[in-house]
Amino acid sequence: MSWSRPEVPHLIGHGPTPRLWDTASQSFVEAASPSGPSLYVCGITPYDATHLGHAATYLAYDTLIRLWLDAGQDVAYVQNVTDVDDPLLERAAATGVDWRALAASQVDLFRTDMESLSIIPPDNYVAVTESTDAIAAAVEQLLANGDAYRLGPDIYFDSAAAGASSPWHLGEISRLDRDTMLALSAERGGDPGTFGKRDPLDPVLWRGERPGEPSWPGGTVGPGRPGWHIECSVIAREFLHLPMTVQGGGHDLVFPHHEYTAAHTAALIGHPHAELYVHTGLVAYEGQKMSKSLGNLVLVSQLTAAGVDPRAIRLALLAHHYREDWEWTDAVLTDALERLARWREMPPGELADPLREILSHDLDTPGALAYIDTAGVVDRTAISALLGVDLG
Ligand code: ZN
Repeated sequence: MSWSRPEVPHLIGHGPTPRLWDTASQSFVEAASPSGPSLYVCGITPYDATHLGHAATYLAYDTLIRLWLDAGQDVAYVQNVTDVDDPLLERAAATGVDWRALAASQVDLFRTDMESLSIIPPDNYVAVTESTDAIAAAVEQLLANGDAYRLGPDIYFDSAAAGASSPWHLGEISRLDRDTMLALSAERGGDPGTFGKRDPLDPVLWRGERPGEPSWPGGTVGPGRPGWHIECSVIAREFLHLPMTVQGGGHDLVFPHHEYTAAHTAALIGHPHAELYVHTGLVAYEGQKMSKSLGNLVLVSQLTAAGVDPRAIRLALLAHHYREDWEWTDAVLTDALERLARWREMPPGELADPLREILSHDLDTPGALAYIDTAGVVDRTAISALLGVDLG
């Protein structure tokens, strides 16, 4: 279950199909598919509240969906929630809270934050814990095809075998060299140091049951729980026609997550996972990337509880290009509050076509905001439809 859908007004005519920067081909690509646009955005691991980095990411794809809708397209949109994973279990253990209760409370908070920011919800909001049978079946298939192997109680993906037999090869999505991949794997949830793997980069597909950890029956693969990348591959295939148009997420997901999500899909179905891989920048605060482990989070819920107008939060995020890494400061919020107040006083005008044109170039929201400022008039319907800001 996701959250309530904001009202998106229809504009007269249609905007162009958006072109986006594709990480895999390192070029601008028109985001279109013959069967209609489809989108999968990797969801949260619910062990802490929604910070502005998350909000910026989901807002970028919300903008993309608004452009597709304005182009007259029906959009299929899926988001997962990684409601069983090491960081969640560790946080639950450290705080003495049941992991399910922790996940449920954080998913609730996320939904509330997304709703307050008028972010368009996915058509399917899918929990990993609802998908364990399908994931186990996919792991079974990879084992049977020789694209996976057992190591102790666990099952790993065989990168070399899959690279030889499927339309994917290592580095296809991330374009990184091997040393960088090894470093990022260690940093971002991989286990390159585990002894006995065929390639240190091989990711876990199924983690065998351990005492004190949740597990699912798994059929022939045995009791355990899913690895991170296979979950997105399986959930995407279950709810979308693959290749999907856009696989999205923060740029910290490029490797290993999206590299191996694409690898698993290619090994399972013999064709690519997505047409485009689109990644958002990271939001810093007080000089460092906003992250749970550093404790430097600015939460959407804190801002709204302090009385900040959610429309100003939206404008603050939209003032930065989605691919940019940027830093949240008090001045960013002050500027947004001022802009909101200014726009609410400006006389009406017709801006739909220029805004459509500007936004279709890689979701240039800062360009759109600057255009409105310069025009000195506001098109309330277009701003509501394309930027999701209701000026009243
Ligand atoms: Zn994912």
